[in-house]
Amino acid sequence: MAYQSVNPATGEVVKTFTPHDQQKIDQTLARAQALFKSDWSQHDHLPQRLDVLLKFADLLLEQKEQLATLMSSEMGKLIAQGRDEIELCAGIARYYSAQAAEFLKPVQYPTDLGEAWVENHPLGLIMAVEPWNFPFYQLMRVFAPNYAIGNPVMLKHASIVPQCAEKFEALIRDAGAPDGAFTNLFISPDQVAEIIADQRVQGVALTGSEGAGSVVAQQAGKHLKKSTLELGGNDVFVVLDDADMEKAITIGCQARLNNAGQVCTAAKRFILHEKIAAQFRQGMLEAFKAIKIGDPLDESTQLGPLSSKDATDKLYKQVQKAVKQGATLLTGGNPVQGQGFFFEPTILENISIDNDAWYEEFFGPVAQIYIAKDDDEIVEIANNSNYGLGGAIHSKDIERAKKLASRIETGMLWINWYTASSPELPFGGVKRSGYGHELADIGFSEFVQKRLVVVKSAE
Ligand code: NAP
Repeated sequence: MAYQSVNPATGEVVKTFTPHDQQKIDQTLARAQALFKSDWSQHDHLPQRLDVLLKFADLLLEQKEQLATLMSSEMGKLIAQGRDEIELCAGIARYYSAQAAEFLKPVQYPTDLGEAWVENHPLGLIMAVEPWNFPFYQLMRVFAPNYAIGNPVMLKHASIVPQCAEKFEALIRDAGAPDGAFTNLFISPDQVAEIIADQRVQGVALTGSEGAGSVVAQQAGKHLKKSTLELGGNDVFVVLDDADMEKAITIGCQARLNNAGQVCTAAKRFILHEKIAAQFRQGMLEAFKAIKIGDPLDESTQLGPLSSKDATDKLYKQVQKAVKQGATLLTGGNPVQGQGFFFEPTILENISIDNDAWYEEFFGPVAQIYIAKDDDEIVEIANNSNYGLGGAIHSKDIERAKKLASRIETGMLWINWYTASSPELPFGGVKRSGYGHELADIGFSEFVQKRLVVVKSAE
């Protein structure tokens, strides 16, 4: 796929990039490996690495407006949401800068055999394959922990956000990172496969669709490389009969429409207790109809464009198919006429279990409504999914919500909020949403080499 910036609000081709060739890949691998084998990756150099992370955070915040504007023009993110994304990125860099020394400390293991401990060492070169929906945040989740650990990272970003990829790389360089620590590559899936196969590469982190995840996981498995997969989701947003309805409706709409609905952990399946279903449905319908669609750079816009024409076409086809298979369209369902890749806020209901829509991820502003008679049926609907990323439960009865949370099979559950993300909280899914984690201590340790050392006690 060509690396090209197209403004999704206008359809205008902004810039086309030349793909990188074999020479660039060879040079990147050699530089990254040389860096890994140098003092840079050693524990003594941890303070210098952490300083670079802090400087990087400062640069991000200094250039927040420019970076948010770049995301708006390259993938259509609302400008205010872009600013939030940059702040979150700076937060991740600062979090790991503050915590890495603690995470890398050796851990003692009591044993009768003698003195034993596990040391934490860098693993080696990491290949990162990342999506466009959070063009900076997704990169930061991989870069910050690995830079602190001492693992050089090579990036293959989504081909529709090449300017963001180049900008992220440039900022890291400006923060003082050495050559080889982070390299952006405009490469094809075949070239990614070659890099994974290279013996100098020790791990691969992919965030993206099930399709890409499955291909890359096979390549990692074939070459016995550690991999983490952050894939799609079909998150539930459960509203119980005792929920604060005003809050649930507001948060629910936000959770579905943030980033034009293109969030892996967006609320996609709204499971409503039958006693409040009509009220929630009406509230969501009114809110969706009142949404202001438009230019993502306009502060008053509430819903920007989808990231590409392909995304709009795919979503439209999915909605059409869902209706053909028996679902009812409560509102929306069509691309917005005119320039750009906008899609109407849409609500589907009466989705039967044999409708493909039940199991598919709709990556755009399309909400699905399900109605359940009690908590058992809520759990049954929630768990009848191929995905298991996040989810939310709204109820005034926290104990009831906690019991439900422990029965819903996903990697993350939020009570009285939507599935959000914060540097200190582990992020990851189960089932076809992938495996492994990012963020927090668990995410940090994914690409750490754990080394047991034992001093055998005298007989
Ligand atoms: P995608 O098509 O899978 O693309 C993701 C990345 O993988 C892009 O860089 C893409 O490159 C690359 N890629 C695609 N096929 C590949 C292959 N065979 N080998 C190597 N690389 C390959 O996904 P997307 O449509 O951009 O992103 C949306 C999906 O990501 C959704 O399913 C969403 O839920 C998921 N997501 C998950 C998380 C999470 O943390 N769990 C976060 C964000 C998004 P090209 O752009 O060149 O095709």
